[in-house]
Amino acid sequence: MNIPVNNMQTLLEQLRHIVGDAHVLTDGNLTAWEQDWRQRSHGKALAVLRPASTDEVARVVKACAAYRASNPTSRVSIVPQGGNTGLVVGATPDDSGQQIVLSLQRMNAVRGLDAANLTMTVEAGCILQTLQERAQADGFLFPLSLAAEGSCTIGGNLGTNAGGTQVVRFGNTRDLCLGLEVVTAQGDIWNGLSGLRKDNTGYDLRDLFIGSEGTLGIITAATLKLYPLPAARLTAWAAVPSLEAAVNLLGLAQRQLGSGLTGFEAMGQFALSLVAKHYPHLHLPLFQGSPFCVLLENSDHESEAHACSQFERVLEAALEQGCVTNAVVAESLTQAKALWQIRESIPLAQAQEGLNIKHDISVPVSSIPEFVRSTDALLRQVFPGVRLVNFGHLGDGNLHYNVQAPEGVDAADFLRQQEEQVNTLVFDSVTRFEGSISAEHGIGSLKVDQLEKYKSPIALEMMRAIKHALDPQNLLNPARVVRVIKF
Ligand SMILES: Cc1cc2nc3c(=O)[nH]c(=O)nc-3n(C[C@H](O)[C@H](O)[C@H](O)COP(=O)(O)OP(=O)(O)OC[C@H]3O[C@@H](n4cnc5c(N)ncnc54)[C@H](O)[C@@H]3O)c2cc1C
Repeated sequence: MNIPVNNMQTLLEQLRHIVGDAHVLTDGNLTAWEQDWRQRSHGKALAVLRPASTDEVARVVKACAAYRASNPTSRVSIVPQGGNTGLVVGATPDDSGQQIVLSLQRMNAVRGLDAANLTMTVEAGCILQTLQERAQADGFLFPLSLAAEGSCTIGGNLGTNAGGTQVVRFGNTRDLCLGLEVVTAQGDIWNGLSGLRKDNTGYDLRDLFIGSEGTLGIITAATLKLYPLPAARLTAWAAVPSLEAAVNLLGLAQRQLGSGLTGFEAMGQFALSLVAKHYPHLHLPLFQGSPFCVLLENSDHESEAHACSQFERVLEAALEQGCVTNAVVAESLTQAKALWQIRESIPLAQAQEGLNIKHDISVPVSSIPEFVRSTDALLRQVFPGVRLVNFGHLGDGNLHYNVQAPEGVDAADFLRQQEEQVNTLVFDSVTRFEGSISAEHGIGSLKVDQLEKYKSPIALEMMRAIKHALDPQNLLNPARVVRVIKF
């Protein structure tokens, strides 16, 4: 039973008792937990908690809920955090000094792997790359892949329904998860760790928590889908004369490779030039005369020779049809990794170049060329000299359509003065093309206003009703995703 506590020091003592003194951090440098990855927000936490088990998480939530119940004016709340690589300021505290950062990083056990069921059950704090490696060691593929995989956690991937580079074949994180274990806002443990691929017994609670960005419950473990490892994975780098050509190439590759097409990324030449500038050791970009380059991946279950001949057929047809002007196929795993490293270095190179206005948008694949052409033109007309960093997961209609200040203009000034107007211009354009203002990064606190502007009022009302039903105290990650009108 929880004893109501009436001041924060008593609450902190209770929390120390639950997770251990060493894992309640209140002093010293807490930047790693208080500042977001892009360094756009630096909050102040009441404490950083590092529980080691689901039971500890549940007891922490119960203690905080009891504290809130006996201190109705208190704003103590909990911000779940994984690797803190999110890009929408959803995992760091505000500056009230009343939010507890609940870091899941110590909960990083693989609870089991069921080879016949093709599943793996893991704790939320497991680093994504560790999971990929663990699956591979047993001869399986866990296909979720993104540039932050060395630091992001599966709990954060589920919390944001992360996308990444393999969505064209395997879907988002949601599609890779069969079951969840969740600590509710009341501190109860819901064991939904099902390994079932079929289960139509009512509302899909798993899908409610996935993508809810820590606002409905704390994911403590998950059962994930595995796939057989392919016999070969080949990567090609192709120069394309336009985005229309890139879309045609995608269609061609989908028709000829079928489910073998596991990656299709497009990169604008300016984005590549930033990689060349800030990471010269990466020896690129290739084909500098071309406005866009495309990275394709072909996974094959037969053999490397089969993959190679299939890939060559696609690229030959593409050259004949004019949708590719030049192409290389990586001849070794090292070369393939080097090509992917260039793609993955774009966000890092962009950060090196300075502050920029990020848009993680999606439109139907067929609309991408016209969306980019018309939005580029509008931006250049209204903000002469802006530099457009355009790259992304073209295979699934998701572009990172980012706007960098004109050369020589102070980036911070540009953002202060123009960010809102730039966002309005881009998101209005996305809406005209029936797209989404957040394809894979989520809403966090950064896009709450924009969600209110661009999401249908009925959808927002249903989202608020769900939040109210599951977290009536507004204890979990308040003011993220949807602003709650009244609790
Ligand atoms: C270089 C770089 C490249 C990236 N590329 C991609 C990409 O290709 N695709 C993509 O989708 N994202 C990408 N991201 C964004 C980010 O990596 C993903 O959103 C990732 O899924 C976040 O995981 P995390 O563990 O760091 O979560 P965090 O940043 O710690 O948290 C993200 C959100 O999830 C919530 N959360 C965290 N853990 C839990 C939990 N256990 N239970 C409930 N809620 C939780 C947090 O409260 C927060 O709202 C990239 C980021 C970087 C820095």
